[in-house]
Amino acid sequence: MLMIPEPVFSAQSTDWKRSLSESFRTIQELLEYCELDVNCVDQGSEAGFPVRVTKYYASLIEKGNPQDPLLLQVMPDSQENQRVEGYSLDAVGDISAMTVPGLIHKYHNRVLLTVTSACPVHCRYCFRRHFPYSDARLDTKVDSPVLNYLAAHTEINEVILSGGDPLMLSDRKLSELITRLNDIPHIRYLRFHSRLLSVLPDRVTDSFIQTLHQFNGKVTLVTHINHPEEISVLNQHAFKLLSKQGFQLFNQSVLLKGVNNNSNTLVKLSYKLFDSNITPYYLHKLDKVHGAAHFDLATDQTCKIYSLLLQSLPGYLVPKLVNELTGRLSKTPVQCI
Ligand code: SF4
Repeated sequence: MLMIPEPVFSAQSTDWKRSLSESFRTIQELLEYCELDVNCVDQGSEAGFPVRVTKYYASLIEKGNPQDPLLLQVMPDSQENQRVEGYSLDAVGDISAMTVPGLIHKYHNRVLLTVTSACPVHCRYCFRRHFPYSDARLDTKVDSPVLNYLAAHTEINEVILSGGDPLMLSDRKLSELITRLNDIPHIRYLRFHSRLLSVLPDRVTDSFIQTLHQFNGKVTLVTHINHPEEISVLNQHAFKLLSKQGFQLFNQSVLLKGVNNNSNTLVKLSYKLFDSNITPYYLHKLDKVHGAAHFDLATDQTCKIYSLLLQSLPGYLVPKLVNELTGRLSKTPVQCI
């Protein structure tokens, strides 16, 4: 039996699906929980992208602080409704790279599967907030187009499970998918891109760990953490459990104005990740998606921050500063001179 400390928000909440069902789904609920007056927040209309926040994540938000960096990531803002030139519905060219419904093939030897549209939190800057999930339904039955594509493309050695968040799937569904991937011998690496790992640590159960061990090759977990306050004793415990089980953990962050756009915050984040057995991997410039322009930071400001990171951290704790640009064959390093 895994020894995971009780969640800080509820001494009873030990079942991850129940925890998920207790998430906040309205602005009002979230404001009340954060002890904020409805008039002190510039609420947006949710712009077709409703509020969703786990209670665990909300428990890390400072009460009574409308500028809390964790709150800003999940609270709708009226600026989301502005249309800004240069920002689009498909910021990184996912749709043109979807060779089979649910399979995005951009880079030579790795593909991404959108296994679900569901997420445990709705991040206001999300590059897939307008993604047409109904056109990207993944069918992984034997002989499905996706599995046939993977089997035919022997250059593909890595499959990335994404979404939405792949850990929203039950262990049974993950297990079925892993079984199918195990049947394709050239798929040697399996990667999960997941925000859920940090915002719902109850998800890391014995059963989940056993499910990951079913994959014949190497499993990598990529967390999505933008601010050091997103790491607590509780999710740190979950990360360490996974790492002790032999899974490699990396983190990707997005540089967000008002949230983490200063070097002290990012230095602290890198050390906290390191203390959690997670290697800082990418620091993404914001993907230019409609509704998120107010989070964007100019390249010269970005480079100033990055230069301070280089000075303040050992090289192994400096994430790569990258852009994801439509049509490119890899991530594009941001050129700072
Ligand atoms: S968890 Fe990931 S996919 Fe879901 S809203 Fe946040 S950034 Fe987007």
